Amino acid sequence: MMTNPWENVCCNGSDLTIGNLDDMECITEHPAFERVVLDRTVLEVAFIQILMYKRSRARAPDELSNTQYRLAAYRQFVSLMMKGEKLGKGNRVVIPSCVTQKIRSEFPSSDNTYCGFKSILDSMNELFQ
Ligand SMILES: [Zn+2]
Repeated sequence: MMTNPWENVCCNGSDLTIGNLDDMECITEHPAFERVVLDRTVLEVAFIQILMYKRSRARAPDELSNTQYRLAAYRQFVSLMMKGEKLGKGNRVVIPSCVTQKIRSEFPSSDNTYCGFKSILDSMNELFQ
């Protein structure tokens, strides 16, 4: 399998997470991680906010697909890490592999394909502009 550099970023080596690690070994041990990033109700609310932010007229579906859960989870994670800071121009959101793996195992894709590097980044960057 091809390895993608994005997939191999460690939470100890990502600007997004390094300042939030304190004395944790992995950012997935963050005390708010499960509540903010993996809780379904929280993600459903976050998804509605994504739609509102994008001024979409679409109504949130009654049940989210796992793809939608994952998108909301990535966004929640970035919000938790950045605490409202804006991304500098040219800075990219890099989500460490431990976090992607955790989110994917919670919300697996039915056919085991995942949005690649670029499409996730595009949707993330769009949300954080
Ligand atoms: Zn980690």
